[in-house]
Amino acid sequence: NIEEQIDSKTQQMKTALKELEKINIQLFDIAHTDHLTKTMNRRNFFIHSQNAFAIAKRNNLDVCTIMIDIDKFKNINDKYGHDVGDKVLIEFAKTIKRNIKEKDIFGRLGGEEFSLVLPNTNIKNATKKAEQLKEEIEKIEIFVHDNILSVTASFGVSDNKECENIDEMLQKADKLLYSAKSEGRNLVRSRY
Ligand code: GH3
Ligand code: MG
Ligand code: MG
Repeated sequence: NIEEQIDSKTQQMKTALKELEKINIQLFDIAHTDHLTKTMNRRNFFIHSQNAFAIAKRNNLDVCTIMIDIDKFKNINDKYGHDVGDKVLIEFAKTIKRNIKEKDIFGRLGGEEFSLVLPNTNIKNATKKAEQLKEEIEKIEIFVHDNILSVTASFGVSDNKECENIDEMLQKADKLLYSAKSEGRNLVRSRY
């Protein structure tokens, strides 16, 4: 009868809606997250860090960024293969995530380059944090057959002083990262 038909159609629609909700959540995740490292993707990172920069500017607060690039990563791929390279990226990201706060913004900008934005943090403490992260990265052990592979990274740290926008702050940190690379790698270079 008609009532039974309505009931059954309503049930079908409820099930379809639930399915859609699930798919929506999955799509949101795909659009915002880097699949390999489960960190924020580039676009998501910029949305969050732009916001953090604006809040700091409006309230006259410190905000800092740490640019991070894994050292000689191409050698790891060449020597051990792309899969081991991927494993290094995953362990690297996990190590950083374990050592930052909920409010900190961490994303993969591309390849083996990551960035961290620390709201409400001054340059002295951001530099300390970078040094600590550098040490934690050095402790990573990747087991490949009978070998233990280690990894290092270089860091550039800047604050928001004299920066009009997030791009300027990131550029300053990037220049300092470049100094860390040219001065020998596995180094922190900071405006502090
Ligand atoms: P430097 O110390 O100067 O940063 O040297 P590097 O070798 O780390 O830098 P380079 O830019 O020469 O090489 C980066 C390499 O990262 C090249 C590219 O193939 C590799 N790469 C980028 N994305 C991925 C990825 O998702 N997985 C793996 N396994 N490798 C990747
Ligand atoms: Mg590199
Ligand atoms: Mg690079």
